[in-house]
Amino acid sequence: GKQTIQIFARVKPSVRKQQQGIYSIDEDEKLASSLEIVLPRDLADGFVNNKRESYKFKFQRIFDQEAKQEIIFEIIAKPVAESTLAGYNGTIFAYGQTGSGKTFTITGGAERYSDRGIIPRTLSYIFEQLQKDSSKIYTTHISYLEIYNECGYDLLDPRHEASKLEDLPKVTILEDPDQNIHLKNLSLHQATTEEEALNLLFLGDTNRMIAETPMNQASTRSHCIFTVHLSSKEPGSATVRHAKLHLVDLAGSERVSKTGVGGLLLTEAKYINLSLHYLEQVIIALSEKHRTHIPYRNSMMTSVLRDSLGGNCMTTMIATLSLEKRNIDESISTCRFAQRVALIKNEAILNEEIDPRLMIVRLQKEIADLKAELAMVTGEQRTEALTEAELLQLEKLIASFVEDQDPESRLEVGADLRKIHYCFHHFKVNFNVSSGLSHVLPRSNCNKNSSC
Ligand code: ADP
Ligand code: MG
Repeated sequence: GKQTIQIFARVKPSVRKQQQGIYSIDEDEKLASSLEIVLPRDLADGFVNNKRESYKFKFQRIFDQEAKQEIIFEIIAKPVAESTLAGYNGTIFAYGQTGSGKTFTITGGAERYSDRGIIPRTLSYIFEQLQKDSSKIYTTHISYLEIYNECGYDLLDPRHEASKLEDLPKVTILEDPDQNIHLKNLSLHQATTEEEALNLLFLGDTNRMIAETPMNQASTRSHCIFTVHLSSKEPGSATVRHAKLHLVDLAGSERVSKTGVGGLLLTEAKYINLSLHYLEQVIIALSEKHRTHIPYRNSMMTSVLRDSLGGNCMTTMIATLSLEKRNIDESISTCRFAQRVALIKNEAILNEEIDPRLMIVRLQKEIADLKAELAMVTGEQRTEALTEAELLQLEKLIASFVEDQDPESRLEVGADLRKIHYCFHHFKVNFNVSSGLSHVLPRSNCNKNSSC
């Protein structure tokens, strides 16, 4: 059904306590928590003023400084992973200024096992669930894309030991006539276990780190999208469900003026801000009821996340906040962005598709049934003998019909006179054998429709 994008906030632990800004979290409200940030006038205007300005923002839930990775996973990521397992697309993205904890939240910290973030915990959870569920056949693939200066790079390229981002294969966008987005050159890797999936995450993160140099601080200036592609099918069914789960670590949301650099870095800053600006535009367009045109095509980010922002998706945003005094203004702008995101209503639908091979088997059976029915109706005799396989199947049907104690049970052989004649013959022979009356014709309750 329709639901708005969920927004959560996470406040990063403050290292210098005396630099801590003033804020409070109100958990009392039933459906949402609210975060109040107090901006001292002196800080805002550059002169001392006792009047304080305060800003209040609502979130689904706010995680304060001491919140552990486990609860972040449980409350934010697990419900999205569950909906992916059920066949819906899902996206979790972290939005916030550089240093506010996006990577820590999405991927985790390297120092402690308990610091592992949403991606490894989600992989662990998904594979655990897949093992438990033997009613379906699952296939899992992983991709890992980095977008930098409007170019996409495949972080899971097995052929390269990248030393620069530019060494990695360039990923480009293709749009088919149905306006579906395809990513050319983005490799998909099958993972059959949690360990295989974690190794792929590790490979991608290694490429991400190597590509990052002081001149090219890719981690703050690029978006990284880790995607779990899950398909599921019930044994024997022709319907395949596809679901994608995007875990997105966005570029830093700080504004260009703060970057204060020229040349190449300014171009980069312009690009990051442009792509986040386009993300915002898409989000605003989606939240306006009567808009029909959504400007997805403006940037690579919005093109890739197209089916994950509006429409067919469960989307969750984590606003990461650093509430030290000097970061208060950026935090306020992050919260404002989140409030706009919360206005979007998404409609999650199941992505189902028919497996062509199974469909062929189903259609072949349907054709055989229809041919039989046609022959019956037109009275045209089918002269070719029943095949070995058909006879074997018929014997099985008869055997199970004879054994069935249910008086209502029927022998269904389809509208094929050859099969019906075979049944009559079978029962005649058996009747004669068991009654010892070889000269009396057996009475049969078979009717014309071959249902006995
Ligand atoms: P971003 O990706 O937004 O630029 P990072 O995730 O790299 O920020 O965080 C900056 C620093 O703060 C890192 O050293 C990270 O380990 C640390 N950090 C961020 N959030 C937390 C947290 N919740 N608990 C402990 N350390 C954190
Ligand atoms: Mg980061």
